[in-house]
Amino acid sequence: MMKNDLNFSGGPGVLPESVLAEAQQAIASVPEVGLSILGISHRSDWFAAVVAEAERNIRELLKLPDSHAILFLQGGATLQFSMIPMLLLRGSGKTAEYLRTGYWSGKAIPEAALEGDVRVLWDGEAQGFRRLPGADELACAADAAYLHYVSNETVEGTQFHDIPGIDGVPRVCDMSSDFLSRPIDPERYDLIYAHAQKNLGPAGVTVVIVRRALLERVPAGLPALLDYRSHLNARSIFNTPPVFAIYVVLLVTRWLLNDVGGLERMAAVNRGKAEALYRAIDQSQGFYEGWAALNDRSLMNVVFRLQSAQLEADFLERAAAEGFSGLAGHRSLGGIRASIYNAMTPAAVAALGAFMQDFTAQRSA
Ligand SMILES: *Cc1c(COP(=O)(O)O)cnc(C)c1O
Repeated sequence: MMKNDLNFSGGPGVLPESVLAEAQQAIASVPEVGLSILGISHRSDWFAAVVAEAERNIRELLKLPDSHAILFLQGGATLQFSMIPMLLLRGSGKTAEYLRTGYWSGKAIPEAALEGDVRVLWDGEAQGFRRLPGADELACAADAAYLHYVSNETVEGTQFHDIPGIDGVPRVCDMSSDFLSRPIDPERYDLIYAHAQKNLGPAGVTVVIVRRALLERVPAGLPALLDYRSHLNARSIFNTPPVFAIYVVLLVTRWLLNDVGGLERMAAVNRGKAEALYRAIDQSQGFYEGWAALNDRSLMNVVFRLQSAQLEADFLERAAAEGFSGLAGHRSLGGIRASIYNAMTPAAVAALGAFMQDFTAQRSA
């Protein structure tokens, strides 16, 4: 039997127990309304207040200034792969720069190429996407339309611990798998996007944070649904939004503020969890091999291999028997991936670390 607290899925990922209980209650009946959340109008005052509070909470968590707007959209991170070049590249006569650091940044590039010129500034494929570029390896052009990168490569388990790019060129970041996992300096970003289903809530809603000044550049002729301004003017209720998903995002932001105590605290917890698993890898004398280069290790997705496919299959089978789930690596890479998003508890991570040690002891005996 799988156990909810031992769900190491890459996404949709684990959510806090208290949030699941509140969401369950809301499906039956939202206490202050008396109706099921699945049947409340998106035009109600109650839902407008939900959107407003979710936005306020994200603003507070990130210390986001009013120069940036927050939007709740649909279409996942994948639609942003297209909407961003529509906004910032189409008709600009400029070149957009992309860092190809793994599976997900690789998916963004062909979509941008449909809209204009793209230059891949750095490509990590020949090195198996195990490491990320340093600042000295990036020849950023001062006249680029923007620089796009993925802060945390969910599949390979690498994460930027510095901010790439040059100030003055709009910086665009896919934070789908590490949004609200640590503090950031919002002034250094022009556009941030993150779907909810890894760190923030259920699938169905994508948070976009955009510097308002960028919206002055929106080219003519965009479909209204693909124009950020439609959503800004309608306060994210342009058409029927995913009411339930946005409500759960609100609950998660309340949990981050009130239970966790903000992003500094969240980052400290996340660091502790990641260190526990990397320690289990590093102390295994080669039984487990971490995928990412040491300096680029992700605090969200811990990716490793065992010495053979058979051993990995045995590992997954034994883990499943003990209630762990979601540990199989992404289908493009194989191996093992433990995703330890915000809601994954330190106790569950400790249980996985202990399991890894037991498995080593048993197989090396
Ligand atoms: C999972 C993931 C995506 C894909 O998101 P969808 O919501 O399925 O479109 C994009 N970027 C990153 C970094 C991801 O982890």
